[in-house]
Amino acid sequence: LDKLKEKLSKTKQHIVEKIEAVIPIGGKIDESTIEEIEEILISSDVGVKATEEITGILRRKIKEGGIKDASDVKIVLKEELINLLKNNTSLNLKNTPSIILVVGVNGVGKTTTIGKLGYKFVNEGKSVVFAAADTFRAAAIEQLEIWAKKVGADIIKHKSGADPAAIAFDALEHAKAQNKDIVIIDTAGRLHTKSPLMEELRKINRVLKKSIPEAPHETLLIVDATTGQNAIRQASLFNEAIGLTGVVVTKLDGTAKGGVIFAIKKEIGIPIKLIGIGEGIDDLKEFIPQEFVEALFD
Ligand code: GDP
Repeated sequence: LDKLKEKLSKTKQHIVEKIEAVIPIGGKIDESTIEEIEEILISSDVGVKATEEITGILRRKIKEGGIKDASDVKIVLKEELINLLKNNTSLNLKNTPSIILVVGVNGVGKTTTIGKLGYKFVNEGKSVVFAAADTFRAAAIEQLEIWAKKVGADIIKHKSGADPAAIAFDALEHAKAQNKDIVIIDTAGRLHTKSPLMEELRKINRVLKKSIPEAPHETLLIVDATTGQNAIRQASLFNEAIGLTGVVVTKLDGTAKGGVIFAIKKEIGIPIKLIGIGEGIDDLKEFIPQEFVEALFD
């Protein structure tokens, strides 16, 4: 928790310390306090919907007499922020093999996250297969290969330019034949080219189902916290196009935009499942709402 606190310190300064400044101990809590809190939440990427829900609850509790001073405000804020993030934050890994499709635009930390996730699973004693289905960039295949070697995962790859769906299919067949526990599929992240990415991802999904009808068991979108509102737009776009089961928010270390976690959950309705808090191999954490909010407040 101490490490998480340190990594989230900029977001804490941006949200919690600013709120603390407008609710002085012993000071009166009234409508103008709520308006100031509202402004802080909005300006720290928490999003309009989540902010309205939180301030609505604060207003109601003030009316009902449940909030009298600054410490009450903090208690209610903490509780409601945890509530907002709750539900289903753990990965669905009950199948063998469990298939995890990883999507996201270039540069968000997709390959790094796959490497870290593979490391985490191997550490837990699971066998892992990477599928190099970002065949658009030759460097992506090489980068994934380096991670596979580093963490001790198998890698299924074809030549650059090959059909991504065929690679994904081969990875599933390999995992079934070799009794592997987990397949993690890397995909392309180009948004601004003529060859349509979403169609490619839908095709991967169709072909996966020919090997394992319930696959993928997880479709994880990787977003970069430092991009703030763009992360929310990406979540909405990918969710509409292919349906997501979870979001991984990377680069929370050193950014003040960690509030974006609340917006993604509230506006898109997809749970955050993992967070990236650094470039190191073990800087990927399971997302636990209580722990995250406590790291911001305590
Ligand atoms: P991709 O294009 O989405 O595959 O992105 P990469 O995995 O190549 O990552 C892009 C850059 O982001 C690399 O320099 C990574 O080390 C860095 N990165 C990834 N995750 C994190 C994180 O959680 N924190 C920080 N500070 N950097 C990260």
